[in-house]
Amino acid sequence: MAVSLTFYGGVGEIGGNKILLEVDNTRIFLDFGTSFSREDEYFEFPLLRPSCIEDLFKTGILPRLCGLYKNAGLSVNYSSDGTPSVCGEEETCGIDGVLLSHAHVDHYGYLGMLRPDIPIYLSPISRKIIELKNDIREDWQTRVNLDALVPVEKAREFEIENLKVTRYDVDHSVLGASAFIIKADDKTLAYTGDMRFHGNAVADSEEFLSACKSTGIDILLCEGTRLGPPSEDEKEVESHALASESAVEQQCLEIFSNEEGLIIYDASPADMNRMRSVSRVAKDCGRTLIFDSKKAYLLLYMNHPEILYPGLPVLGEFKVALSRLKLYASRYSKYGLPQDLYAESYTDYRQAHEAGLLVSQRGKQKDNPDLICLPDDIFIWGPLREEILREPRRYLLYTSSGAHTLLHFLPSDGRPVLGAYVYGKAEPFKEEMELSFRRLLKWIELCGLKLEYAHTSGHMYPRDIERLVLEIDPKVIVPIHTEHPSLFCNWSGGVHIPRFEETLEL
Ligand SMILES: [Zn+2]
Repeated sequence: MAVSLTFYGGVGEIGGNKILLEVDNTRIFLDFGTSFSREDEYFEFPLLRPSCIEDLFKTGILPRLCGLYKNAGLSVNYSSDGTPSVCGEEETCGIDGVLLSHAHVDHYGYLGMLRPDIPIYLSPISRKIIELKNDIREDWQTRVNLDALVPVEKAREFEIENLKVTRYDVDHSVLGASAFIIKADDKTLAYTGDMRFHGNAVADSEEFLSACKSTGIDILLCEGTRLGPPSEDEKEVESHALASESAVEQQCLEIFSNEEGLIIYDASPADMNRMRSVSRVAKDCGRTLIFDSKKAYLLLYMNHPEILYPGLPVLGEFKVALSRLKLYASRYSKYGLPQDLYAESYTDYRQAHEAGLLVSQRGKQKDNPDLICLPDDIFIWGPLREEILREPRRYLLYTSSGAHTLLHFLPSDGRPVLGAYVYGKAEPFKEEMELSFRRLLKWIELCGLKLEYAHTSGHMYPRDIERLVLEIDPKVIVPIHTEHPSLFCNWSGGVHIPRFEETLEL
């Protein structure tokens, strides 16, 4: 049976995984993520952005594969009087499915361009996160058709044509992360996605490792994010990294209980596990939690209508910080982001709230029974910020856009904010570190805040990668999601270093 792997991303770079697995006539993709490093070569946020799929083809960022993309083969033509007509012939579907490891943009960010009839297999929690992110983020590359998402329970085998696939939960810095074991007749593959052995769900990662050992793996596609030295930008943050998620909680307890001023905690946007830990500690220290509107939205709807991840703060346990007034906000409202709806409605706050606009994008459907109605006193806006600044030690502000938050909270009379700014981001992929760290430091200084660190990485330490490789002992190792693939050769003689757009016959 002919097995081959072709790499359209995730090789020689961190993130951007798009790996085509072909077994005879069955073709599936392992993830279909945004490649920030490749996009950065040609594009720059926000002024020079790709605006259609052709832009990504032209620059070689996406492969022109037949039967993969929606509307492929069709085009719109205009007659001389301007009447549009659709011409061409739609391609037939050429891909049997996508296995999605988790809901980080570097793994799912290009799903919005795929044909809606290609099923995307993922964990139930990943499906929920993608659904919620669809609501708060307008992005043609990422906005996936929800009907294509097929949630699969963990450790239960399912079939894609002649492949037998099992999904395992693994520990990572976003909830719902998966690894997969794929049986293709005489060969068995394992795909780690992104994972670690030092978070709150270590048992899940161990279960995947045991399954690999008992199944016997021929080909292991293994992430190696943390191999090699950190880049210049990462060094400062790396030097403060803690060993585990529980050490983060300990560190937070120490900082929060000794701080007399405001605490601002800056974390990756989708790390709800961290939201849970920080919230718990803040509560123990008697601090009122404040989330920005996007994170509040994730929190409110993650467990609504059904509980998917217990222990998150619930309605009544936190407040929501709204964007401050932007007179030009209406220009941005086409994006439909919750905070822009808030900002736009600022002057007519109560009326908009009654219309359901302030609740969420779903609020547009006034009679939606799924809508969570929020009491007025949950919102922190305009003059209410003053209340926080008067009694800063009573609050903890949780955000992932640090400089932006500081800009809003810094009083215009030149008073400092006073308190601690706790940096809790460790993920080395670009979007989560969009704001340059040096610029953030200037803002922290301007606000008179102390800088503290409380974070741990979402990825395996080199010693854990070594253990994984030695214990699974596959015939072939394919290093992915790393800038230092050759370091795998220290642990195995069967390392195949993949190259971009190259096909590995196995
Ligand atoms: Zn990743």
